Amino acid sequence: LMADSLFIINNYAREYFTDTLFNKEEGQNIGLSYFEERGFTEETIKKFQLGYSLNTFDAFAKSALEKGYNLEYLQKTGLVTIRNDQPADNYRGRVIFPIHNQSGKILGFGARILGAKSDRAPKYINSPENEIYVKSRVLYGTYFARHAIDKQNECLLVEGYTDVISLHQAGVENVVASSGTSLTQDQLRLIKKYTNNLTILYDGDSAGVKAALRGLDMAIEEGLNVKLVLLPDKEDPDSYVQKIGAAAFREFIQEHKQDFVLFKLQLSMQEAGSDSTKKSQLVNEIAETISKIDKAEDFTRQQDYIRQCSQLLHIDEQGLIQLVNKFIR
Ligand code: ATP
Ligand code: MN
Ligand code: MN
Ligand code: MN
Repeated sequence: LMADSLFIINNYAREYFTDTLFNKEEGQNIGLSYFEERGFTEETIKKFQLGYSLNTFDAFAKSALEKGYNLEYLQKTGLVTIRNDQPADNYRGRVIFPIHNQSGKILGFGARILGAKSDRAPKYINSPENEIYVKSRVLYGTYFARHAIDKQNECLLVEGYTDVISLHQAGVENVVASSGTSLTQDQLRLIKKYTNNLTILYDGDSAGVKAALRGLDMAIEEGLNVKLVLLPDKEDPDSYVQKIGAAAFREFIQEHKQDFVLFKLQLSMQEAGSDSTKKSQLVNEIAETISKIDKAEDFTRQQDYIRQCSQLLHIDEQGLIQLVNKFIR
């Protein structure tokens, strides 16, 4: 089967890249020291099966072809491409982050350039979609996080691979990453298999906030209870936990966790200012968001939101209830 072949190739590549990282001179000098500089311990590197790809034209491609792996399938995984009519390595001189499915099999890879990103090369290259890797259905870290999410009845959502890894190392294990894209319905359903409580931990920059907001209505429609933690400017969970330490980071999350619906409302109120057209527009928007909370599932939650939002907006509660009901079919 095609899918099995792709899993087998990815597993071979994972072994090849971890072997390169730990046992080859270039891997140790460049890859391993990069991870060490970022504060990742050997235990963490091994747990996440991080690796390194040599800065060569075709070292991996040659090795895989010698092993007898099919060129067409190697290309499907994105590990090998054709350059100047030759099979060539796609990831060269990059550190490697395998992306696992829920049972630990490897769907694909993220490969990070070393040092600062240049204008020529993207910071991360990710595997292309294929029979086993469908990006909209995958959250990075699910395999490592699922028991902790279940146990703590909460899932933390971050943007990047290194955020997941650093938080694990700090003892925060109920965390998955959207890998820099906005959330999809399938990803939210994946979270819902384990918990109803989603806490979004995005970069404090405005792009991070906007990405988080885009997922809000969909998350609420899926019946998730959404909280948000905004990190200080220019920090992401990885940089911040490495800076302030595990205990202080956990405390920061607890202290800065806010309700996402109320956050969105306050943000829109700031934007609207005294503009009455904008204000009535935002009342409509918030009513629509509240209407998406499934009453059957959580009636008091909807009532709570109506009460809190009408107070924030200085509008009549009954009026807001009527508006909310207009959006319910
Ligand atoms: P690092 O700490 O190594 O710089 P990061 O995770 O903080 O990585 P961000 O720029 O915050 O990097 O991006 C978040 C996530 O978005 C990445 O982990 C990666 O999954 C994805 N991403 C970022 N840049 C790209 C890119 N050029 N192509 C594809 N995916 C990317
Ligand atoms: Mn960012
Ligand atoms: Mn980062
Ligand atoms: Mn980041």
